[in-house]
Amino acid sequence: MQRAVFFDRDGVINREMGDYVTQKEDFHLLPDAIDCIKLAHKNGFKVILITNQGGIDKKLYDEKILNEIHQVLINECVKNGTTIDDIFYCRHHPTIGNCLCRKPNSLMLEKAIAKYHLNPSHCIMIGDHQRDIDAALKAGVLGLLVQPNKPKLHLLNEQINALLSK
Ligand SMILES: [Mg+2]
Ligand SMILES: [Zn+2]
Repeated sequence: MQRAVFFDRDGVINREMGDYVTQKEDFHLLPDAIDCIKLAHKNGFKVILITNQGGIDKKLYDEKILNEIHQVLINECVKNGTTIDDIFYCRHHPTIGNCLCRKPNSLMLEKAIAKYHLNPSHCIMIGDHQRDIDAALKAGVLGLLVQPNKPKLHLLNEQINALLSK
């Protein structure tokens, strides 16, 4: 069974701007994002992005643009000698229709757990909203709530060490 750190995107990996990231020019990596990714890998965790992107259903951007935005992130990782193992996003928005994937629902996490044969009790979900934590709990994953846009490397490090010492 494998381990993973599930990362929320906006406010954890890139700067939360209080609005949708609709173009790659609005995607600004947070200072410790790469270090958090590297820390997870170093400790044997896969790195998987789990992100609500309801702006797609609202037609603020499309999947092609979202992929461009994520390519910026991947390029930045590669430049720094690391990588993202996978990205799961929910394109739905409750004003348009309900779905099972949008956090606080847990379908994205469950899909990732199945795809990578993860043991949920060996995984961490790091997010800056309660809905991230609620999604984690539904999937049997430990939730780590952090402040949007604030440093969290040491919090993630503590949580990883606590998990590994069990
Ligand atoms: Mg967020
Ligand atoms: Zn969805």
